[in-house]
Amino acid sequence: MYNAKSGDSNEFIDHQEILDSIEEAKKLAASKSTISSILEKAEAYKGLTHREAAVLLEVTNEETLNRIYNSAKKVKEKIYGKRIVIFAPLYLSNYCVNDCTYCGYKCSNKILRRQLSQEELKLEVRALEALGHKRLLLETGEDDEKCPIDYILQCIETIYNEKFKNGAIRRVNIDIAATTVENYKKLRDAQIGTYILFQETYHKPTYLALHKGPKQNYEWHTEAMDRAMQGGIDDVGIGPLYGLYEWRYETIATLMHAEHLEAAYGVGPHTISFPRLLSAENVDRNSFKYLVNDDDFKKIVAVTRLAVPYTGMILSTRESADFRKELLEVGISQISAGSCVGVGGYATQAGLGGADAAGAGCAGAAGTAAGGAGCTGAAGVAGAGDKGELEEKPQFNLADHRKPMDVIKWLVKDGYIPSYCTACYKEGRTGDRFMPLAKSGEIANFCLPNALLTFEEFLGDYADDELKVMGKKLIDTEMRNVPNEGRREKAIQYLEKIRAGERDLRF
Ligand code: SF4
Ligand code: SF4
Repeated sequence: MYNAKSGDSNEFIDHQEILDSIEEAKKLAASKSTISSILEKAEAYKGLTHREAAVLLEVTNEETLNRIYNSAKKVKEKIYGKRIVIFAPLYLSNYCVNDCTYCGYKCSNKILRRQLSQEELKLEVRALEALGHKRLLLETGEDDEKCPIDYILQCIETIYNEKFKNGAIRRVNIDIAATTVENYKKLRDAQIGTYILFQETYHKPTYLALHKGPKQNYEWHTEAMDRAMQGGIDDVGIGPLYGLYEWRYETIATLMHAEHLEAAYGVGPHTISFPRLLSAENVDRNSFKYLVNDDDFKKIVAVTRLAVPYTGMILSTRESADFRKELLEVGISQISAGSCVGVGGYATQAGLGGADAAGAGCAGAAGTAAGGAGCTGAAGVAGAGDKGELEEKPQFNLADHRKPMDVIKWLVKDGYIPSYCTACYKEGRTGDRFMPLAKSGEIANFCLPNALLTFEEFLGDYADDELKVMGKKLIDTEMRNVPNEGRREKAIQYLEKIRAGERDLRF
């Protein structure tokens, strides 16, 4: 029985409620007046229920689709303005005890397994800072023995402490396996930003079929955000892996998950991610029957933006540059840039040496890496003694291989403001302190000046001459659009201070 407040994932992601929503939506989508009233609600920034969103997901008429896209664009600009937040993933370890059918790190794959030492990690961080990054998403496979919580905590501390020239990582978000309330408390105390965990699929029979290992526990995985909230982490990020099951089902379930977090904890998801299934080592995406085409994916993004206007929406380098551009138009507010989706590699690419890796899965890099033992309990997987015989492989194959500087130029050319802002987290605007600002659109008064200030830092520290010219013009123009006069004046003063060498000034 559907119950948004329940702590039982089988109740807040109620299978029958999803099927009923789809059935009802198919009927209602034929009614122009119903569509119109749903869109009017969305255009008033009121968000949508999962049942209302389900109706929009059924729209195929081109004219109505265009209205959905235009509305999604309007809603995003009202809430977040033109800023696009940039981050990079950082893989700490590819040891994994699970055998997830769709993942290059699955333990049945005979690939080199490795884990960054703290010294290697420092070099990775330096390389990321030299690219201008300020916020990272830490990624690991699941392996409590090789990659315990203490290792993760040590890595977080190392990252926050490692400063290279003017660089600093100011926000560390975490994407690690579902864990205990006690471990979530430790992550909170280590001052993580958002805890992100992809649901993969909300469809329980599919979930059970695609996973082997501890991750196969559907309830433990689906209720992870509840435990994270109970552990005091109030910024959580959700999202299915599109392509594992039917996209309407996954989208409605994602919105139900958001409704559950709101109902049970008073705080919806800080972010929703939109990964689509890609091929990887021994993973052929074409063997999956629920792949989502570009048209449907664009509709999913736009409808989600209308349904949860307050939520940050994340797109990774899984998508091509051209398609990323389309999706930015209809709701995406955060992107990764210049990503490596293997362990090690940023340092090697930057010529900092150190990590014994050539960066499998890096934008613009390929190669092999030396590593350690294979996955726990997997027969026939090579260990440390097999150095040189096995190759390190990425978790999945990237589609956007551009360097951060090129991504930034591309954003500026399209009228967006690249942002390395981490101010909310630094100022304690998280959870229930963040949500009212996001829901009212007041957050744009923070996002715009903060985006301009962090972009000015980037121009001073990392940009080439072409970007400096483009960036100065953009900052001069956009500074005039800061709505509050007092804040605008203060932002102009901050800008001068940044030009004189100060850093991390923010609202
Ligand atoms: Fe391991 Fe995560 Fe990949 Fe599953 S998806 S095999 S848990 S790294
Ligand atoms: Fe994100 Fe807050 Fe900065 Fe806006 S002001 S970009 S919401 S951290």
